[in-house]
Amino acid sequence: MPDKHYSFFGAVERSFNKAAGFTKWESGILEQIKTCNAVFQMRFPIKRDDGSIEVIEAYRVQHSHHKTPCKGGIRFAAEVDQDEVMALAALMTYKCAIVNVPFGGGKGGIKINPKKYSAYELEKITRRYTAELIKKNFIGPGIDVPAPDYGTGEREMAWILDTYGAMHPGEIDAAGCVTGKPVTQGGVRGRREATGLGVFFGLREVCNIKDVMEKQGLTTGVEGKRVAVQGLGNVGYHTAKFFQDAGAKIVGLAEYEGAIRSDAGLDVESVFQHRKKTGSILNYPGAQNLPKNTDMLEMDCDILIPAALENVINGENAPRVKAKIIGEAANGPLTPEADEVFAKKGILVVPDMYLNAGGVTVSYFEWLKNLSHVRYGRLGKRFTENLNAHILGQIEELSGKKVKDNERELIMHGPDEVDLVYSGLEETMIAATHEIMNTWKSNPEIPDMRTSAYVVAINKVGTSYAELGIFP
Ligand code: GLU
Repeated sequence: MPDKHYSFFGAVERSFNKAAGFTKWESGILEQIKTCNAVFQMRFPIKRDDGSIEVIEAYRVQHSHHKTPCKGGIRFAAEVDQDEVMALAALMTYKCAIVNVPFGGGKGGIKINPKKYSAYELEKITRRYTAELIKKNFIGPGIDVPAPDYGTGEREMAWILDTYGAMHPGEIDAAGCVTGKPVTQGGVRGRREATGLGVFFGLREVCNIKDVMEKQGLTTGVEGKRVAVQGLGNVGYHTAKFFQDAGAKIVGLAEYEGAIRSDAGLDVESVFQHRKKTGSILNYPGAQNLPKNTDMLEMDCDILIPAALENVINGENAPRVKAKIIGEAANGPLTPEADEVFAKKGILVVPDMYLNAGGVTVSYFEWLKNLSHVRYGRLGKRFTENLNAHILGQIEELSGKKVKDNERELIMHGPDEVDLVYSGLEETMIAATHEIMNTWKSNPEIPDMRTSAYVVAINKVGTSYAELGIFP
């Protein structure tokens, strides 16, 4: 059970402070980078389907304005509170800085368990929340741009856009007020799986670094790695699938009702379908049930991927974790105490604020698409295909040989939107991995990869503030 006294924002501050000493910034700038610039706490009533009135508690936090707009998801969860939203907003600032996405960090939260509300009630809550943001100038393509997070998805983003658009008639860039929209409403292809794909690209790159893998006692490459994933939501599901497609073995999967394991490997899609059909991940044919879902965090595997909520591995259970690498697909799944344990044990923790940056990276692509009012690939695809056909024709003529049909298709193919989004994301994650690893290598005093990621983020945000001349 989550510890009620645990301050998530406090944990982010502690990790920040640990890294700040490895940077050159004076304390005033560090304080400005760390602090939350604006916190909007609201309450509004909605009428439930049974006619009763309920007061809803909700937040939007803008952690940093060093770049605008602010950016970050909106979470629907019963555990939402101000401390949590502040922490998540801060992580967004650092995340965006690391992957060079030119936004400040933001986050929103509505304190509801969405499973206990009808679609109609959720729509009313989402639209009213958006209206409150509009009233206080807390949303807009150049101000603050929400996105999906835990408990929200494309449907909620479409409601937000519709509400914003209705109250900003004629605003030509209105579609850029929110990302993670359905493709028919200005969304970008590839956004839905972006976080999971980014987690995969990031961990794959780490697995390709020979000396890092040797240190963990592992061979290079993803193929054959034993992977366990906690959470089969949007992030966990896609992460597990990308690992399975790349030849990794999914040996454990957990959801809140329980966990399953199989040394022979689980098929992610059929486990997902099994859960949809039976309402539970448990009793999957051929797999072993684990009594508590948290047992899966302690199972023997190469890579453990918590992809649900914060604070699931702490000082208490960390000593029992057997994984060699932990990839934080969720935001804040490890506490600073767990970090200490893993640093001592030599377990590599690949930190959230870079590893799960795929979502916001592709949100950035979506926002750019909205501002440019054109689908990626529309202008260049045909031109590239014609050019490739011409080059291929010349090669065949000069060599007197024919290229195989499947090769022809591959060579000719001009990029579609999804190809460009995937390739932009891949490049982003590979570059970020090396930037963090190189910073870590350049200073042997830096204790872990999270601290190194913070150093990278602090330096970027610090430079931005210093160059803006905000401190005269
Ligand atoms: N909610 C996601 C995150 O935590 C995505 C944010 C976004 O796309 O703006 O990174």
